[in-house]
This record gives sequence, C-alpha cells and structure tokens, in this order.
Amino acid sequence: MINTARRGGPSLPQRRVLRTELPGPRSRELLQRKTAAVAAGVGITLPVFVQAAGGGVVVDVDDNVLIDLGSGIAVTTIGNSAPAVVAAVTDQIVRFSHTCFMITPYSGYVEVAEELNRLTPGDHAKATALFNSGAEAVENAIKIARRHTGRPAVVAFDHAYHGRTNLTMALTAKVQPYKDGFGPFAPEIYRVPASYPLRDGLSGEQAAERAIGMIEKQIGADHLAAMIIEPIQGEGGFVVPAPGFLSALAGWAGDHGVVFIADEIQTGFARTGDLFACEHEGVVPDLITTAKGIAGGLPLSAVTGRAEIMNSVHVGGLGGTYGGSPVACAAALAALRTYVDQELTRRARELESIILAELSGLRDDPRVGEIRGRGAMIGLEIVDPDGRPDPELTGRIVAAVHAQGVILLTCGSFGNVIRLLPPLTIPDDLLREALGVLRGAFRTA
Ligand SMILES: *Cc1c(COP(=O)(O)O)cnc(C)c1O
Repeated sequence: MINTARRGGPSLPQRRVLRTELPGPRSRELLQRKTAAVAAGVGITLPVFVQAAGGGVVVDVDDNVLIDLGSGIAVTTIGNSAPAVVAAVTDQIVRFSHTCFMITPYSGYVEVAEELNRLTPGDHAKATALFNSGAEAVENAIKIARRHTGRPAVVAFDHAYHGRTNLTMALTAKVQPYKDGFGPFAPEIYRVPASYPLRDGLSGEQAAERAIGMIEKQIGADHLAAMIIEPIQGEGGFVVPAPGFLSALAGWAGDHGVVFIADEIQTGFARTGDLFACEHEGVVPDLITTAKGIAGGLPLSAVTGRAEIMNSVHVGGLGGTYGGSPVACAAALAALRTYVDQELTRRARELESIILAELSGLRDDPRVGEIRGRGAMIGLEIVDPDGRPDPELTGRIVAAVHAQGVILLTCGSFGNVIRLLPPLTIPDDLLREALGVLRGAFRTA
C-alpha cells in the first residue's frame, strides 16, 4: 500500500527525516514495477517515489523527508504545490479542462501572453505563442526565425542543451545520453565554440570573435536564420559566459539580420537573480524561449519576441492541440504573479549568498575547479589533480549526498558538475543543512 494521505505545499514540516535507508522498501517495490513496466530508456536520478512535496522538501512513500536541491530541474521555483497555483488550477479545472485554443479560445492564454510580453526583456512590441514543453518552444522559435528570414541555417553552441526532439537533438551538443543512435538529425544546424572561461581562458569579446569568425567563414551570415544560446548553459554545466560574450553575439546578429534567440528555459523566472538571465548584461533577445519555471510545475512553454518576427508566420502555421492548456495557463498566471509580488529575484540572490558562504571552504579544495553561476543556479565543477573533469568523483559525492536524504543533480558535458537548483521557497536553515551534507560528502569521498 502506498501512503497518499499527505498533502504537499509549503505547510509540510520543513525538516529532513530519514526513517529507512534510501530507497526504502516501498520505493524499492515501486522501482521493480517501474523496471517491468516503464521503457528502460527513461532513467531515474534518485529512485525514491514521491507522495508529497512543498517548500524545500520532498516526502517519499516510506515517509522519508528529503531536502530538495533540484526543483524537478528548475521547475518548481516557487515551490511544489504552491497554494496560489493549487487554487488557480482547481478553479480552472472545474470550469473547463480543454477546448483547444485554436478552436474556441479562452482568456487565460491571452493573459499569459500579455504577461510574458510585459515581463521579458525589451520594451518593443512583442507577441507570444504557447506550447507544452521546452523542446517544442525551441522548435517553434526556429520555425519562426526561418519563416521570418527566409534563411535555412541555425547556429548552436558547444555544450548546448535545447531538448530531445529531432530538431532540438540536433541543437543539443552532448551525444550521451541525448543523441546516441537517434540520428539522422535535422540538417542546417551548425555548432560553434561557446565561452567557457575556466577551460578557454578567453574574454567575452575574444570568445565572441572566435565564434563569429567561424560563422562567417563556414556558414555566411546571409544563410543564417538564427543563433540560439542559453545565457547560462544548463545541462552543459552551468557555464557562465565571460562578460561581453552574449552582447557581442547579439550585436553581430542584429547587424546581420540574424534572429538572436535566448533559450531561457532553465535560467528564466527569477532563477538567476534577475527575472531573465539576459538582463544581467542588458542583452535584449529577438526571441526568448521559456518553460520550466513558468507554471509552478504544470507543462507549459512559450516563445516570446519581437512582434514583426513572431507575426511573420502565416495563420495556422503555429499551434498544437494542447499548447497553452487552460489549466497550465491558470497555473502560469498564478506563478508569474508570485515571482513579481514576492520579489523572488531578490530571494534568488539571497540564496546565492547563502550558498556561496556555505561553500566558501570548498573554493580552495583542489577537487573543485570552479564554483560558478548566479542566483539559485550554482554549479561546482569537479576536477582531478590535473584539472581534468572527474565524473567518477562527482558521482561518488552525489551518491553520498543522496544517501543522506538530499536531492542533488549533476550536469556538464563531462558529467562533472554538481548543480544546485533549490526552490526559492526553501527555508534558509534547510538549505544550510543540505549544503552541510554536501560539504560532508567532500570530506568522505
Ligand atoms: C530543459 C531544457 C530544454 C528542454 O525542455 P523540455 O521541457 O524538457 O523539452 C530546452 N532548453 C533548455 C535550456 C533546458 O534547460
């Protein structure tokens, strides 16, 4: 029997409790059923099955209470089952659950579009289209850029992650696990070096010059529809580009009629201490893709951008059965209000200070190549004595942290970056406790 009596949300007791080893007996039983019933390709980071979550904790089916440093990959930024989202979803679902916006529309979709047009960087005229997943938003941003420019080519960057559909696999850099055996991939995608200060030692201007030089020689600006980049790379390793890199690329794109797309699917919505990571350098993208944190855990994504680009697509050229579901839109309106009303950008900066203070002792640890990131998006790159990526050590540290009841994710092209993505609702003392567990794992690993 699985215990489903608990409700989630921020009123869950905010403390770590380990009643069994992890995973406990009920989770192990479910894991067996998962193995028998679910396609093997769907992997699991930490096999504890969840019964409730909220604030900064996740309660598993064995009544263990884990501290959440992952937010379901930067999704539950305002906390799991945030009361405003629960209320909005409940109110919507009893009125109607679906009509398809393209058949008979509803106001929630329009209101989300208005909010995103208002909140995203730049005060130019904007338009928005809604979809279901991040990958779908990226696909549509590319469709729109190609339609607008009449050009075929798209530039993506080393260490990029843009999704798992065919076009977005082509944009994604890392073969394992995302692309291996899944080709052929979409054509006219070109990859150029990004800015990776720890590994390339280049200034932002130098890194941009290198990328632009390759683009001009190997593709030609006249053939290029779009350049897509994560302002801080997510899956690729929480790589923060050197200052000036993004603005130099955006400037070059603007000069050559290339659509500059910021993929803020992971960095968006207060995560980095600004509402969008682009704002840190004053970069105004032509198009911006959002998802993850947009709707408090419900599946929703968006492309928002310059009205003349967005509106270059013929009627019927964009859409989908579920895109901008009324339930997801209701959740998004509640979530977007929460980001603004609760000044969660400030909260993200507070979490950054706590994280950096708690981990300051690791800065001199030779196994830590770099601690980087912004706001509540901080990564630790783990290296061997020669400064090379050490995924094996990374795995041991993370396993030790998991065993202590802290949910922690990794990333990086070499799997050697520990990434911290706590919900912004995590209480300070709980975050400190989790970081203490992480420090302890460095001592024993
Ligand atoms: C997660 C992510 C995606 C893909 O989003 P899905 O909802 O998983 O399709 C795309 N881009 C970035 C930067 C992401 O972090």
